[in-house]
Amino acid sequence: MSKDNKSELKIKAIENGTVIDHITANKALHILKILGLPNADTINVTVAMNVSSKEIGRKDILKIENRELDVKELNQVALIAPKATINIIRNFEPVAKYKVGLPDKIKSIIKCTNPKCITNYENEPITPIFKVIQTHPPVVRCHYCEKLIKTEDIEKQFE
Ligand SMILES: [Zn+2]
Repeated sequence: MSKDNKSELKIKAIENGTVIDHITANKALHILKILGLPNADTINVTVAMNVSSKEIGRKDILKIENRELDVKELNQVALIAPKATINIIRNFEPVAKYKVGLPDKIKSIIKCTNPKCITNYENEPITPIFKVIQTHPPVVRCHYCEKLIKTEDIEKQFE
């Protein structure tokens, strides 16, 4: 156990930015995508995958330099990693800590998987709205066609 904890500590500290901890193991890259950060070279991101965790067994950690996540982004993280915790870092010190969480309704982050849904119409697409049915793991239902979007379907959209 102590050896694993040490390897966790070796991950470079950041001066300013956001640390996303307790990400479901092997989902860190999904999180980068959901946050619109697929090109890690344009922004300084450190990824630690499959680190051992007392709380959740195995986890991923993301450190994003010079960027502080906002509430909308925290909700997005919860769609993939509902147990994630967020630390905002300024001058090497954590100044705020949040647990991610889904609101009752989410808008536009994901797509309805029903191709005939009004939100998927080519000409006049309507902004998708989903009711959150379950948060751990996340399951949502389309407000328009009532299609249930399961965890795997949500994850697939960010692979
Ligand atoms: Zn729908």
